Amino acid sequence: MGDYDAIVIGGGHNGMAAALYLARAGWKVIVLERNARTGGAIASAEVTLPGFVHDLYSTNCNLFVGSPVYKDFGRDLERHGLSFAHSDKPYCAAFPDGKCIRVYQDAEKTLDLLRQHSTADAEGFTLLNSHFQAFVRSLVQLYGMPMPSVQVPWTILRAIRSEGLREIIRLLRLMISSTRRLGEEYFTTPEARALVAAWGMHLDFGPDVAGGAIFPVLETFTDIQAGMSIVKGGASNLMLAMERLLLEFGGEVRTNAEVTRIVTRGGEAIGVQLADGETISAGRCVIANLSSAPLFGKLLADYPFTAQFRRDIGRYSYGPGTMMVHLALSGRPAWRAGGDTDQFAYVHIAPYVEDLALTYTHSLNGILPASPLLIVGQTSVVDPTRTAGKGEILWIQVRTLPSEIRGDALNSIKARTWDAAKEAYADRVIDKLEHYAPGLRGLIAARAVESPADLERANPNLVGGDSLAGSHHLTQNFLFRPALGWSRYRTPITRLYMCGAGTYPGAGNNALSGYLCAQQILNSQKSRIAAFRRAFPGSKAA
Ligand SMILES: Cc1cc2nc3c(=O)[nH]c(=O)nc-3n(C[C@H](O)[C@H](O)[C@H](O)COP(=O)(O)OP(=O)(O)OC[C@H]3O[C@@H](n4cnc5c(N)ncnc54)[C@H](O)[C@@H]3O)c2cc1C
Repeated sequence: MGDYDAIVIGGGHNGMAAALYLARAGWKVIVLERNARTGGAIASAEVTLPGFVHDLYSTNCNLFVGSPVYKDFGRDLERHGLSFAHSDKPYCAAFPDGKCIRVYQDAEKTLDLLRQHSTADAEGFTLLNSHFQAFVRSLVQLYGMPMPSVQVPWTILRAIRSEGLREIIRLLRLMISSTRRLGEEYFTTPEARALVAAWGMHLDFGPDVAGGAIFPVLETFTDIQAGMSIVKGGASNLMLAMERLLLEFGGEVRTNAEVTRIVTRGGEAIGVQLADGETISAGRCVIANLSSAPLFGKLLADYPFTAQFRRDIGRYSYGPGTMMVHLALSGRPAWRAGGDTDQFAYVHIAPYVEDLALTYTHSLNGILPASPLLIVGQTSVVDPTRTAGKGEILWIQVRTLPSEIRGDALNSIKARTWDAAKEAYADRVIDKLEHYAPGLRGLIAARAVESPADLERANPNLVGGDSLAGSHHLTQNFLFRPALGWSRYRTPITRLYMCGAGTYPGAGNNALSGYLCAQQILNSQKSRIAAFRRAFPGSKAA
């Protein structure tokens, strides 16, 4: 017996999802969160002007809307205040000469416009879409399965039966392609090639990294089907709803409660210690919503893992950093691309594949890129409640940046720490944006900047400001996330589980690792009870 059946360390959405399933099954659960509120990378606040609610980190909630957690708890979460604002203009890519490729939640319209841009690109788009449609069901199923598991080969076999082995191998080839290769094989114009390559950079796939192609393909065509959804009133409303539902299930949440150590006995996790010295015990399990570095490098720094495990987990690496620039505007940007550009949920500004490649290489080498990718979210256009008509909000994610600064591609920023360099770098971001939306600078009423260092300070999972809590390169995904042999949420310590962006299937508001981790725990509990009943027929308890 412990104070609780289960302790969840970290109130990210995966930790909260795991807590919801355990609490619904009757377990006594507590979530311990170091910050003043839960949410981790899902949070909103008035960081520029009163009445302007910005999504501080993530904004696009399509993955959550498609998740099993939303399927299971959606209605309850809505009862507790969750709703989504939706855009049928999910994203476009703007170019310096005023060109723009627009992707609508409307395949025909998207294709018609692309045809006007280039008939060859439109043909490539149609071909890529046909590959995507043939495999989307299997891919989505694989994305939501424990890795490895018996369902995986069955899903692949079913796909082979319906589409043929040759097509599966073709898909595999596509999956391991880089985004540059993907663009060159399907598209002819630099604009269409950049359209897909920019999505690779959302994860940490520079245009020349193998395995980058699959996410852009998924994102492009699912957005055509689903548009884009963000949380109405601010991302924190999602976390508040999860919290309220957990309380309804009898669970607890404690904020300002930083766990500094996991307490073990005889190779089992039996509780945690907080920063103020308090210990809390867990009778059944501890779940860490943490990535490898904070979990194994800090909370279990002294634990006698085998040398092999320390080596394997020590190889877990973090990708380049991210900066967030939040703008409060007095009016909508006047995009050089014109038309309905000011209505899109995201405007991607790379502009071209060559720029992305240079930016990515510079960020890996510690150099501040001259012209980073800007993912411009037009938050208040999608959800006008964010400013109640008082102006507009731009959410700008700057990808990719060095975690540690060793130089500047333009040689104009001399600072070598993010605290000293961030405002100057944000000026560079605004300068770039000004070219695409002339007059933008004059619309800025206030801004707030979060550097890679700020991201890590706010959330220890984001080591070096890596918004993904660990690279998604092929060597660190699927069976290898976080390390070979440990991709199913267990750890070498009995009753200690891990979930979150640092575990399969990785970053994004998918809630999947929390869901899969909880299923794993509840299923192994069920098998233990079944084994006990087989050993002691007629008994009631295990
Ligand atoms: C800037 C940014 C933009 C993003 N944009 C998008 C997007 O638009 N769409 C999308 O799908 N995904 C996006 N992502 C990714 C996505 O938001 C994250 O992958 C996801 O939210 C991670 O959730 P998580 O459950 O793994 O936990 P996290 O969000 O990492 O939360 C973990 C929690 O644990 C707490 N914690 C850490 N250590 C301790 C400790 N020792 N004791 C107690 N508590 C602790 C942290 O404070 C945090 O609250 C973005 C991420 C970032 C950072």
